[in-house]
Amino acid sequence: MNQNAMKKSFDDGLTSRLPPVRGVYSENAALGEKTWFRTGGTVEVLFDPADKEDLITFLKGKPSDVPHTVLGLGSNILVRDGGVPGVVIRMGTAISEIEVTGTQIRAGAGAFDYNVAMACFKASLTGLEFLSGIPGTIGGALRMNAGAFGREIKDITTAAEAVDETGTLHHLNINDLVFDYRSCGVPKGWVFTAATMEGEPGDISEIGKRMADIQTARNEDQPRGTRTGGSTFVNPPGKKAWQLIDDAGCRGLKKGGAMVSEKHCNFLINIGDASAADIEQLGEEIRERVRASSGIELEWEIRRMGLPANGETGA
Ligand SMILES: Cc1cc2nc3c(=O)[nH]c(=O)nc-3n(C[C@H](O)[C@H](O)[C@H](O)COP(=O)(O)OP(=O)(O)OC[C@H]3O[C@@H](n4cnc5c(N)ncnc54)[C@H](O)[C@@H]3O)c2cc1C
Repeated sequence: MNQNAMKKSFDDGLTSRLPPVRGVYSENAALGEKTWFRTGGTVEVLFDPADKEDLITFLKGKPSDVPHTVLGLGSNILVRDGGVPGVVIRMGTAISEIEVTGTQIRAGAGAFDYNVAMACFKASLTGLEFLSGIPGTIGGALRMNAGAFGREIKDITTAAEAVDETGTLHHLNINDLVFDYRSCGVPKGWVFTAATMEGEPGDISEIGKRMADIQTARNEDQPRGTRTGGSTFVNPPGKKAWQLIDDAGCRGLKKGGAMVSEKHCNFLINIGDASAADIEQLGEEIRERVRASSGIELEWEIRRMGLPANGETGA
């Protein structure tokens, strides 16, 4: 077994310190397997809230020394091999309702971007087609200011709801969200529970055609059906990360079971039994080579969480 891939187990018992909830606590849950990379360690406790009120109960009652973070669909996350201490809250189907009223769309943070795009298609609303090409949840899209084909979530969002570390629910307007390129200024520990978005009346057949074109473009540009975390690095101002990576000679570069996609150089792929350390070390080697060839410092877009295995690697 790859030394880096050795999984650490957390001592059982954290659950007994957590507040009673209606949802589910799972100790030592295989978190890495729940991400698109399908590798990485466990989490001390995975919490699947039953609904928004349950999430609020949890955050109100959680001891302040227990860290928490959030998992959407895990399409932009690398879980390090040593696992994640504390609690990971999974925004699953329990908080994923989608309601369309006129031109307004309200979606729970666990709703899939694709399902929101489909709801708009069915309601003949245009402007949200780009969401059909992003494989995540609305909560993940808010946190990352996800975007594609010239639009970002910031362009369609009018309001959002988030619960802070103390369990207080906040109603946020667009200015409170402080969106920037692949980021949002809402404090890190806050958990999005919903977004309100605005579409425009459109022609259903044109909306359907745009969504089909998006799928075609994705199939042409990106590796499909692979274990990846999407774009690894953010584009530096005025530059394309994939171009810098290609120019630095990294296309197809391998480290253990991790590889730079031949099709899209900014995508790293788990080609078999990659550990999270293989993927992270490959990313760091790319950063070093790009720095050497262009003087540009690439910044990680993929969110890395948790501890390295056996104290090895990790930025
Ligand atoms: C094949 C592929 C293609 C992709 N294409 C694109 C693209 O075109 N454009 C683009 O922008 N991205 C793209 N991505 C990246 C990814 O899909 C987006 O960043 C997406 O918005 C992440 O959503 P998620 O639910 O999977 O979040 P996760 O990956 O689970 O989490 C990402 C971050 O959001 C936080 N988060 C998740 N949910 C919440 C919540 N409810 N409240 C607070 N924080 C939360 C997490 O803690 C983490 O920091 C792609 C990824 C893949 C694998």
